Amino acid sequence: MMRIFPIFRRNLTHVCSLKPYKDTKWLMPNGNPTGMYIYNCVAQERVPIILNDPSFATWYSCGPTVYDSSHIGHACCYVKLDIIQRILKSFFNINLVTAMGVTDIDDKIIKKSLETNSDFKTVAKKYEHEFWLDMSSLNVEKPMIITRVSEHIDTISGFIKGLIDSEMAYVAKDGSVYFNTSKFPNYGKLQAGHDNGETSDDAKMNKMDFALWKGYKPSEPSWPTDWGEGRPGWHIECSAMVSKIFGSQVDFHAGGIDLKFPHHENEEAQSCAYHNSRQWANYWIHVGHLNLKDTKMSKSLKNTISIPTVLEKYSADIFRMACLMSNYRYPMEYSDEVMSTAEEVLKKFRFFLKDVQVYANQRVNGVGDYNNKLMNELQKVIENNLETLRSDFDTASCINTLLNLISHTNKIIKGKTTDYYPVPVLLVADYVLQVLTKFGLKLSESSTENITNGFIDTLVEFRHTVRSNALERKDKELLNACDVVRDKMKLMKIQINDSKDTPSWVTIK
Ligand SMILES: [Zn+2]
Repeated sequence: MMRIFPIFRRNLTHVCSLKPYKDTKWLMPNGNPTGMYIYNCVAQERVPIILNDPSFATWYSCGPTVYDSSHIGHACCYVKLDIIQRILKSFFNINLVTAMGVTDIDDKIIKKSLETNSDFKTVAKKYEHEFWLDMSSLNVEKPMIITRVSEHIDTISGFIKGLIDSEMAYVAKDGSVYFNTSKFPNYGKLQAGHDNGETSDDAKMNKMDFALWKGYKPSEPSWPTDWGEGRPGWHIECSAMVSKIFGSQVDFHAGGIDLKFPHHENEEAQSCAYHNSRQWANYWIHVGHLNLKDTKMSKSLKNTISIPTVLEKYSADIFRMACLMSNYRYPMEYSDEVMSTAEEVLKKFRFFLKDVQVYANQRVNGVGDYNNKLMNELQKVIENNLETLRSDFDTASCINTLLNLISHTNKIIKGKTTDYYPVPVLLVADYVLQVLTKFGLKLSESSTENITNGFIDTLVEFRHTVRSNALERKDKELLNACDVVRDKMKLMKIQINDSKDTPSWVTIK
């Protein structure tokens, strides 16, 4: 069971007194060593994982911008992050408190809402709903905390006000607010020498300055602030929401490699400026791109593949195995060859687990050697795997070691020379099953339980969407219908928890 720890909100008031010299080095946290190592883009090498708190670690992932359906690029990113979180929790007993920000106000969402003649909230809700269903079908665990920009406007404008007050940001003619990079010498910590991608704008004082707040436009949603009406820019939301939840520092901050610059660079700059600190995120985790064979996949090329399309062809376990067999930091290729290889590997494991059952039951009365050799090999594999996972989550080596182990064990199962007691073979199978399950593989795609769970997830998500809309419109009839569904499910021993943000369910006695 996860222990619940109180998270103290640190005082967010501040006075900026950063010394004006450049120091972009990664700082080793002064805390609690875990014995693990991770690649850090600021240090440009593997560094020890040292946690701020001895009893838990904080993790924030940048979530989706919900203006369209997610594709396998997103699937790859979130499955790989899910695997890393599971490794930290299951192999190294780290209590992770996880949060994800959903961007539900953005240029692309506004564009879509104008195109479809609907409210920006309706667009965002539709695609966020789809996103969680996709994640559930990929067996990606839901973050403990989900933050949405539209629900944190006050937090965001308060954060920006702090930056304006300390003169790290300025209000431009059009009511937009920009971060003043010339006042922050450590800009370029994550990726020096890159243009921040924003179009040059007369309103900006320096080329690298980026928007924290976008001035009022009649066609866009807007909120009032001390400096005028408008809406948040993209980068500021994560900094403000993370600070609200976790205080002035976060242990892990994750996202796709495309977010490294400018998004994460800007997040780090404005957060350090706000908190008057030299390091805000201790560990940046960036997942490599997913590429189609020979081509780049992108929305603009219109060659993206949706998550349901992939899952029609390959199971969630096969997709996850392909992710496990590639390094999380490097690009991964999506092709029929890659997926077939993953499928074959998965089959090897599944057949092995079946074969061991048959073997063990045939050998209950067996006599002979206890096979210390296999026991020793198993012990070595357990130790080696912990070492490879401890060092930047090398799941590919771990899978290879497991394949070697089952190949040796298969020789015993299928060989006729010596008759062994089944115990060592059963221990190998138990270990293999444990590791694969800890990685988030289900290994029983067609079991009724999984289908039922998927079905309940879908129903609960659907009811949540209907209920949220009904609450907004004060539609009593629909709300009653939602209550009937909840009561009927309770009779079937499934209790739904109607939280505002995220619905959940548990089975009851
Ligand atoms: Zn972000």
